[in-house]
Amino acid sequence: MTKRVVLIGHPVAHSLSGAMQQAAFDSKGIDARYEVWDKLHLELAEAIVELRGDDFLGANVTIPHKEKVVPLVDRTTEEAHATGAVNTVTKEGRKLVGHNTDVAGFDIALQTLVGKQKMPRQAVVLGAGGGARAVVFGLIREGFQRVIVFNRHLHRAEGLVKFFGRSAAHMELRAMPWHESVIEAELSKTRIVVNATSVGLVADETPIPGELIPPDLLLLDLVYNPARTRLMREAEAAGCQVMNGELMLLHQGAASFHLWTGEPAPLDLMRETLEAALAERASAGIPAEGSADAPAEGSAGAELAG
Ligand code: NAP
Repeated sequence: MTKRVVLIGHPVAHSLSGAMQQAAFDSKGIDARYEVWDKLHLELAEAIVELRGDDFLGANVTIPHKEKVVPLVDRTTEEAHATGAVNTVTKEGRKLVGHNTDVAGFDIALQTLVGKQKMPRQAVVLGAGGGARAVVFGLIREGFQRVIVFNRHLHRAEGLVKFFGRSAAHMELRAMPWHESVIEAELSKTRIVVNATSVGLVADETPIPGELIPPDLLLLDLVYNPARTRLMREAEAAGCQVMNGELMLLHQGAASFHLWTGEPAPLDLMRETLEAALAERASAGIPAEGSADAPAEGSAGAELAG
């Protein structure tokens, strides 16, 4: 029987996880099919129940469901429990296990971005959703001493800070209101900035105006399609070193593949497939940067999620 793995999110219509994972299954001779399910909040619980069927190996969970799926699985692993977010589901018989492989993906992206430089101890995180939780957890674990979280809806950032209360007791983890003057002041005091909002994913928009960005920042945008977001272009123009979310996507995907199959992921093949898919998207102009044809944020025709 062909096994099934699904990506559950909204929007997911043009996700690249499918291309990457299907190539990996095929190259290893694993009889499995990666499907993409566009599900709204109201449809999530039913979709998760469906995974209990014998034909499913598991799932990926993406924007905006990573937190909402936690109470729907039977057990969470250490990183999913510690972040309160699940991006990968595996099976133990009919039982569902929630994992968070974004943490491993983020760690690799952070180490690569910093390279041979001394690991900074202060960071600003834009966003407080499921992706931001993996980022904040990774920063705490890495030994950061001051992490400031900005979110459009402040209460969500406050909820995130409260969630990490105990594990962040030794450091300063704070939620701050999304005011440009406050963001500018914090950016001037930090070295690392991570965009964990979905702004830039479906249209050529940036979460913060370029004028707020000082030179010398190390900026990681979790968005990877388009490969160079407006935020990345403006940060680069300001003199910053920038990286998109492709490496994080690759490594979270490789970790998920290993969890579903028990086999080491064919990393080179997954990287090549991802790059080819991204190049194809770019040449097809989906969505064109700044294009009026780009789908509205949150629409079903939007670009990929993580
Ligand atoms: P999520 O849980 O739905 O959170 C979305 C975040 O974006 C929230 O903080 C939300 O703020 C913010 N946001 C949305 N629209 C905004 C706007 N117009 N202005 C300011 N903030 C806005 O999604 P997620 O799972 O965390 O994913 C977030 C992004 O990270 C997505 O682009 C996703 O593809 C990416 N990601 C990439 C990887 C990777 O492997 N590269 C992994 C994980 C996530 P509010 O709470 O105020 O609505």
